[in-house]
Amino acid sequence: MLIELLTLFPDFFASPLSQSMLQRAQSQGAVEFRILNLRDFTEDRHRVVDDRPFGGGPGMVLKIEPLVRAIRAVRNRDPEVRVILLSPRGILFTQEKARELAEIKHLLLICGHYEGVDDRLRFFVDTELSIGDYILTGGETPALVVVDALTRLLPGVLGGEGAVEEESFETGLLEYPHYTRPRDFEGHEAPEILLSGDHQRIARWRREEALRRTAEQRPDLLEKAVLEDEDREFLATLTDSLQKD
Ligand code: SAM
Repeated sequence: MLIELLTLFPDFFASPLSQSMLQRAQSQGAVEFRILNLRDFTEDRHRVVDDRPFGGGPGMVLKIEPLVRAIRAVRNRDPEVRVILLSPRGILFTQEKARELAEIKHLLLICGHYEGVDDRLRFFVDTELSIGDYILTGGETPALVVVDALTRLLPGVLGGEGAVEEESFETGLLEYPHYTRPRDFEGHEAPEILLSGDHQRIARWRREEALRRTAEQRPDLLEKAVLEDEDREFLATLTDSLQKD
């Protein structure tokens, strides 16, 4: 997969892309990142990328010409590229969206800044993505969120390090809790069953804990989760015990 990042702050990505899973994914050849400097797509002597908003008001707006020049340069190289603008008004980025995007061979992520981009950019991008209902200074942090979530889904990237299929949101539920040594930390004991060696009972316990957590912390997720009969029976016992309390 090739992910290109169009930004005014190319140095922003140096450290995160050279650490941990993102670094490993590149050395395995699962993903390649290319950073494009928005200023390289200007045509004036001062390499101006922003201007004051029409109608007045605070801040600066990213001009449309360098942005569209950059998009066209990438599309000329690869007409199949999916162009995504990071934007607070975009559709919400979820694990489901991450799975969908991880299937695409080539992405261009556009990072806005200042007050945002000239609104007409929407005619030139394929999708606008938001990472949540809050405002960040620029699109670089949201782009990194997207990059991280997608890259760890690429085949072979996590290897033996993690079971993606069981993670929160993948099954429609929050994940079950994890424990490691020591067994007893200041009186807080790890659940005995995890030390029993009985893998079938451990699997059922984990499923029930995932159901319990989801019911307690994100009941909204249960509406879409794929549930077996025994899951529903377990959830009913939770509701019963809540009603008795
Ligand atoms: N004035 C804009 C508004 O009120 O909607 C906010 C602009 S924000 C300071 C600058 C840039 O950061 C945006 O153009 C976008 O690229 C990025 N950004 C900020 N918050 C974001 C979010 N929640 N999701 C995706 N991108 C975001």
